[in-house]
Amino acid sequence: MKCPYCNEDNTKVIDSRPAEENSAIRRRRQCESCGKRFTTYEKLETMPLMVVKKDGTREVYDRAKIEAGILRSCHKRPVSPQQIDALIDEVESSVFNLEEKEVATSVIGELVMAGLKELDEVAYVRFASVYREFKDVNTFIDEIGKLLKK
Ligand SMILES: [Zn+2]
Repeated sequence: MKCPYCNEDNTKVIDSRPAEENSAIRRRRQCESCGKRFTTYEKLETMPLMVVKKDGTREVYDRAKIEAGILRSCHKRPVSPQQIDALIDEVESSVFNLEEKEVATSVIGELVMAGLKELDEVAYVRFASVYREFKDVNTFIDEIGKLLKK
């Protein structure tokens, strides 16, 4: 970042804070050559992540949809909203860390299932049954069998 006063390319950030309701970052910078301070705003690049559904159609990634599915699975189960939030955060960061422009619903579904399995097994089976749409009945029966054995 060039200093607007002396044009030297030698500045350091002395303070960063969110601005414009977190859609930008305001940075205070100081030029290490002339010592003057100035402020920059960086807009966060919003590149929508596309989700590819089983039928090949695409839609923009929507956290609320994942949340709705998880909430349904956790109905009357001892899972707190904080735990659900944390689970979605974890799923999101795994998905975004793939750095792909598109991600299959199956990838998200598997991540959610892996997380739910740790939180609550009933919620996990509920989610898995909806997610897999009972197409894979044997897997479903296997899962329930495993839970009953415990
Ligand atoms: Zn300067």
